[in-house]
Formats: sequence, structure tokens, C-alpha cells
Amino acid sequence: MVKLSNTSIFCCLLLLLLFGCRSTYQAKPLDFPKPVDTTDKPIELQSKKVYSITQKAVFADNLFDGARLNDFQHINQDTFQASIHPENKPINRSPYYAFRLWSNQSQKIVVALNYDEAKHRYAPKISRDGMNWTLLDTTKVQLDGSGVNAFLELDISTDTLWVAAQELQNSTHVKNWCLEKAKLPSVTFQVAGKSKQGRDMLHLDIGEGDPRKKDIIAIISRQHPPEVTGYLAMKAFIEEILADTPLSNDFRKKYHLLVYPLMNPDGVDLGHWRHNTGGIDLNRDWAYYHQPEVKQVANHIVKNAKQQKSKVILGIDFHSTWFDVLYTNSQSAKNLPRFKDYWVAGFREVLSGEKIRESPSAVGAPVSKGWFLTQLDAEGIVYEVGDETPRDLIKKKGKTAAIEMMELLIYK
Ligand SMILES: [Zn+2]
Repeated sequence: MVKLSNTSIFCCLLLLLLFGCRSTYQAKPLDFPKPVDTTDKPIELQSKKVYSITQKAVFADNLFDGARLNDFQHINQDTFQASIHPENKPINRSPYYAFRLWSNQSQKIVVALNYDEAKHRYAPKISRDGMNWTLLDTTKVQLDGSGVNAFLELDISTDTLWVAAQELQNSTHVKNWCLEKAKLPSVTFQVAGKSKQGRDMLHLDIGEGDPRKKDIIAIISRQHPPEVTGYLAMKAFIEEILADTPLSNDFRKKYHLLVYPLMNPDGVDLGHWRHNTGGIDLNRDWAYYHQPEVKQVANHIVKNAKQQKSKVILGIDFHSTWFDVLYTNSQSAKNLPRFKDYWVAGFREVLSGEKIRESPSAVGAPVSKGWFLTQLDAEGIVYEVGDETPRDLIKKKGKTAAIEMMELLIYK
């Protein structure tokens, strides 16, 4: 008979406890009515370089995080072509571009944006410093008859001109926003894991006092890299929750927020149109967890809820599309029944001059809103913002969304 020392018994029990707990802290695989294969697919990486058209003294580059420029050539006279390719195909029509231009003399040039088969989508934004952006005057953007190519009239000089599909918000910008928020006493900045290429999965933990048994609200954004307007709405939403108002101060004492502002850091920094570096739409992997970004965030949410003996009641996932719309689940969520009806009604009352669209649907593809409902019995909402929604309105709506949510969850 083998005799075990007290230390061995203790070690065995400890291992059993650790491994036993670990499995219960993981998100369960789910069956969705419309399955999707989310195993890795190859992607095309852009060459990072300076393109020099010396005879015209025109230079272009993609040497920054969030750039997308696959080729740059002189076509004729003052016209140049910027070729923009997706990371892989098939892919939805979100041809994101971002590059810089300069010359050693002041001159006007035309840059034709060419995306292979995809049509132009994003109105060009320009900047002189990569931080402050304005919309390129619409009179300086021409589309060809098919809408495939866009021709941009640009003034270039020794002062670098940044041109992008949306205001640049790469992983450094998002991290800096997190660090700034983490100066507040109710915010802790953490890393919830690593992306496929090893970038940080940024995370803000928000709440005051002991989080145990407090209801959890999870917030995610940027599963799809070009969807900057959704990210801007998410920032306004979180900033209202962090505001020094009686409502927000009460809310932070009562609830616990888990925020994941950059779900696809590799895709964002590489200028991807939609996918991560596994070549996959992350918002189709919320059942299988083949991609590390979804797997780690899903597990992080489940682990927080289980460790703190809390319920997740609500998950909001911020995106962008052609117009503002809230995609909701048509099924009721056990942990927060009827919330969305009151929330949308409150939204409509406060912003009576704005059209607030809601589009409910049954659980179908393995997307985050279905995951919140089926994994956690929580309400799941996709908050979509129009690509070109005025930035002031994005902020106003994001702030209103937060106020209406907090009022409902505290007072009603
Ligand atoms: Zn999206």
C-alpha cells in the first residue's frame, strides 16, 4: 500500500481544486441554428514601406499602426493609384484604407482608390498630425460610374498628409484612452489576454466596492477593425458612466462593468477590413472559441461572473454599419426581461428628433448578442453606428444610451 504524506495529499487536493475550477470558469461551447466554420484561414499581409515616385516628387507610406496601402503607383500626369486589398476573401464590403502622402514641393494631385472588386464605402478623412481629422470636402471626391473607384483631389506638400477611411484609432490610441480612464478611482486597467499576434486584449474593470454578487454588464467594441464610429459611441457611453453625476456615482456602486474596447487589436493595427489574423470574422466565433480573442474575452466574462457569484445581465457590442440601428434578440432574456423595450422607448423619448431604429431577430449565427443570451441568460444588444453619423451626434446618442440604461437599472 502506498502511503501519502500530508504534503502530497495537500498538493493533490490543491491541483484538483485548481483544475476542477478552471473548467467551470470557461465559456461552454454552444449550438447556433446557423453554424459557421471559424477555423483559421490564410490572410494576405501588406508590405510595410515607403512608395517613392521620384519623377513626380510624390511619396506615400503605410509605416504606422492602422495603415492599409497595398500598392501606390503613378498612373498619368497628376493621377496616382492607391491599391487597397482585403486581408482575405470572401469578405464583406468594408474597404478600409489609411496612408500618408508628402512631397518636397506643394502640389495638387489626384489619388484613385482601387479595391479590386469592392466598391468604395468610407468618405475620406484627412489629418496633418494623425490625431485631428476632418472630412475631405465632398467636392474633392469623385466616384466613377460604377462606384468602384473613388478619385480624391489632395493638396500635398512637405507637411505630411494623412488620408484614412475613418479617424485613426489604433491599439496605442485605445490603450492611451484606457490609461486615462484608469486614473479614476472606480476604474482598473487590466490585460484580459493576448491576441493571435500577441497584442494586449485591453480591459477596463469599472465599479466601486466589493464586486461580489453584483450584477455584471459587459461592453465590447472593435470586433471589426474599420468600425471606428461604434468605438466612438462606446467611449461616450463609458465616459457617461464614469461621470461625476449622482446617477453615475450611484450606478458604479451598484453594478460591475467589464469593458473590452478593442476585441481585434491585430486586425485594427494591420488595417484589416473585417477579420483577425486567423482570417476570421470574430463575430461568428461566439460558440466555438477557435480564435484566441473571442476565447479569452468569453472566458474572462464567465470567470468574473462565477468567481464573484454574480449574474451577467446585459452585454452591449458596439459596431458600425451604413446607418444607426440597434440589433436586439427577439427572445426575452431571463436575467433582464423587457429591459430593451423600455431602454429603446427611453432613447426615443429623449432623442425625439432622431430616428432610433431597432431590429430584433431570433438567435441565428454565432454572434455576440446570441452568446450573451444563450451562454448567460443576459440581454444581448448590438449597437450599430452609421459610418458617417456626425461625430457630435454619436457622442450625444452614446451618452443618452448610458443615462437611459443607468436610470432603468437603478430606479425602475
Ligand atoms: Zn461590425
